[in-house]
Amino acid sequence: MNTQQQLARWQHGVRAISLALGLLLGLAACAPAEESAAANTAGAADTQVYEWKMITTWPKNLPGLGAAPERLAERLRIMSNGRLDIKVYGAGELVGALEVFDAVSQGTAQMGHGAAYYWRGKNPAAAMFATVPFGMNAQEMNGWLRYGGGLELWQELYGKFNLVPFAAGNSGVQMAGWFNKEINSIDDLQGLKMRIPGIGGEVLSRAGGVPVVLPGGEIFTALQTGVIDATEWVGPYNDLAFSLHTAAKYYYYPGWHEPGPTLEAFVNKDAWEALPPDLQAMIEVATQAINEDMLSEFTARNNAALDTLINEHGVQLRRLPDDVIAALRASSKEVVAEIAEADPLAKRIYESYMAYLEDVRRYHSISEQAYMNLRESAD
Ligand code: CA
Repeated sequence: MNTQQQLARWQHGVRAISLALGLLLGLAACAPAEESAAANTAGAADTQVYEWKMITTWPKNLPGLGAAPERLAERLRIMSNGRLDIKVYGAGELVGALEVFDAVSQGTAQMGHGAAYYWRGKNPAAAMFATVPFGMNAQEMNGWLRYGGGLELWQELYGKFNLVPFAAGNSGVQMAGWFNKEINSIDDLQGLKMRIPGIGGEVLSRAGGVPVVLPGGEIFTALQTGVIDATEWVGPYNDLAFSLHTAAKYYYYPGWHEPGPTLEAFVNKDAWEALPPDLQAMIEVATQAINEDMLSEFTARNNAALDTLINEHGVQLRRLPDDVIAALRASSKEVVAEIAEADPLAKRIYESYMAYLEDVRRYHSISEQAYMNLRESAD
């Protein structure tokens, strides 16, 4: 595409977005005749329907995590007046849960929804775009990604795999997980086979445990049949949906390993570049909306789900002992620092994340955290 074509395409997109905004604000009637004519021409050229497939790492119709791709597709269909028509496939329907990244990279589907820590094998720094043990919470991740340089680094990394990434969900601080026995000391982690993905899994391994990576849909059976001794999944709302309480009794907090994981949507780069700019803008806006929507839903529903688990199902809620947390924290520091050794881009991602974390921790210690402490001490 030459410069003139690019300019024309850009102008075309700006016109389409301006028209949409004008209609929303009820100002369309005031548009001069000349602009209306231009908009009509743009409208005629914009009738192409893009039929896409979105494949996900979640079981089809799973509440919470699985609702995000469904709602994303639905909103895009409405916003685009049917021009962007995306069919959502659950894990295993088109490809397996952990094959989503490669399949979208290769163009088997145009879009995927998952979590970046599943792709650590591609580059260990990918996990930092999902979550880092003892790292940032949801609010801080959004700040880093959108205004701290994080998204640009994520685009650079995924660009190497022919993908364009977007933040598209966050669970908030997760639970530490489900165990069949009490965890009273670090000795209780020795040889423990636990489903735990991402950097957290590597940390568990340094602490003597045996991490297992399984997609969500395989967790329950693995725990119930004893293939694994313990598992983490998300938090009360999503864990209740999997009936994990029927396979383990002790429910531990806090989720040291996933303090605010970002879920992701990613688009095949060729498919992205073939879209007109207004549809690209809709994907940007709709993923932002879904990013917020998931966090709001978990925030609203986790409380009642935890009450149900404890009061109706007799789940035993436990806090991880301080010395276990201290040991995991020490291992985390080591494991996270090793990410920087992978390659120069991983080093830049690591340095950007850690610098932002240091800054945001300093301010949040006198704002968010100070307020939370104050609120608790008021009881
Ligand atoms: Ca998890």
